[in-house]
Amino acid sequence: MNAKEKSTEPVADPRRIDPRLRKKYDVRGPRYTSYPPATHFGPIDSRQLFERWQARNQLKDDPGLSLYCHIPFCRKRCLFCGCHTYAAKQPAVVDAYLESLINEIQLAARQVSPTRPVHQVALGGGTPNFLTSKQLERLLSAMQSTWQVAAGAELSVEINPRTSTAAKLDVFIKYGFNRFSLGIQDFSRTVLETIKRDQGLMEVDQVISYLRQNEIKSINFDLIYGLPGQSLASCRETIDQVIDLRPSRIALYSYAHVPWIHAHQKALERAGLPEPDLKAALFLSMADRLVESGYQFIGMDHFALPDDPLTVALAERQLRRNFMGYTTGRGLDLLAFGASAISSIGSAYSQNDKDLAGYQTQLADNRLPVVRGYLLNSDDLIRRELLMELFCNFFVDFKALSLQFDIEAADYFAKDLEKLAPLIADQLVSWTREAITVSDSGRFFIRNICMTFDRHLEKDDSQRVYSRTV
Ligand code: SF4
Repeated sequence: MNAKEKSTEPVADPRRIDPRLRKKYDVRGPRYTSYPPATHFGPIDSRQLFERWQARNQLKDDPGLSLYCHIPFCRKRCLFCGCHTYAAKQPAVVDAYLESLINEIQLAARQVSPTRPVHQVALGGGTPNFLTSKQLERLLSAMQSTWQVAAGAELSVEINPRTSTAAKLDVFIKYGFNRFSLGIQDFSRTVLETIKRDQGLMEVDQVISYLRQNEIKSINFDLIYGLPGQSLASCRETIDQVIDLRPSRIALYSYAHVPWIHAHQKALERAGLPEPDLKAALFLSMADRLVESGYQFIGMDHFALPDDPLTVALAERQLRRNFMGYTTGRGLDLLAFGASAISSIGSAYSQNDKDLAGYQTQLADNRLPVVRGYLLNSDDLIRRELLMELFCNFFVDFKALSLQFDIEAADYFAKDLEKLAPLIADQLVSWTREAITVSDSGRFFIRNICMTFDRHLEKDDSQRVYSRTV
């Protein structure tokens, strides 16, 4: 089947996960927001990096750019959070950061041509709407005066309902933002108190009503399962409230407990984390309700209504994934601004300094604050493409891959395909010389399937570095 033809397979139903397989494949592994994963980034030669960026300026058929801006501030830190963020108490700290960010946005345009068309803009954090309306205006006007946002571009922002005001939402709407993602996590009062997040249904309800009055149709909810205090009954109540509000997309994330990286998460151990069996049951019961209510399972942890562009892209095998999650933006280069932000341009990944002072010092010297990254070799590029197709579209067209990289794909991956044997025996995946096809139940073990093709995995201390795959 040609990769562009529509899949006739039914959308996967999470109710079909075999508990025996869930236990068997419950290991630690990457989430493949990049290949190789960011754990393999290291010191990088900026001259080589910028040469690779500039080479993309010469492309004849330019796929275009996705711009990301990281706002690493929140009113206070939620105990479960794994984001790179600070509880900012001093307005001057935020003002100084904003100046650096605008400087970076303009400096980057010396390396990446500002005439390249921008098809996506995303603001994330932290909490982008922690900024005041005035600060948001300043940032967005600097972005739009430097970069060419194409007609029909997708502009999205992560919103914390607690810090939303009509004035701030108006700024986003004025600058053309058409997708809003709300960090909900849970609606249970007890759970929210345990994770130190003071937010209720009413605030969420008001934000949604305001957005809908302004004809914003694309609303995403982020939810988390596996938090202390969650029970089957409380999750059922939360998911029913979510379904009543009818967001177009839902990300149902597994709580990743990694206190060796985020020490503040240790406090949640005292509150008692759900055992693996209960955690899986929480996911299944919430997924079950979503599917019953008309949502389709997109992959790993995302659900969307049937007419949402993510659902359509999955059916057409055009879905992609980047550091912000699933996207319909096929082939876009990602140029990211802000402390800790990761860019992916052509064959180069680069990450900015995570440390606010370090980030700002380099920009004060008019240097882009890149501190680490990874330059992909030809094998990485081939594997990245295969993993992207597998992870997002559950299908790899060997003919298309062979043409794209001038290889015989089934021979190139012969050793990796041999390693698929146990997954094939469990009917999670199959392959021929034409294609690899992930089965309906295999979609839930996609990280395990992808790990078979990951050349870098053996160098990892994966038991500590990654979250659990199932
Ligand atoms: S969950 Fe959101 S609001 Fe809470 S600390 Fe993390 S980024 Fe900030």
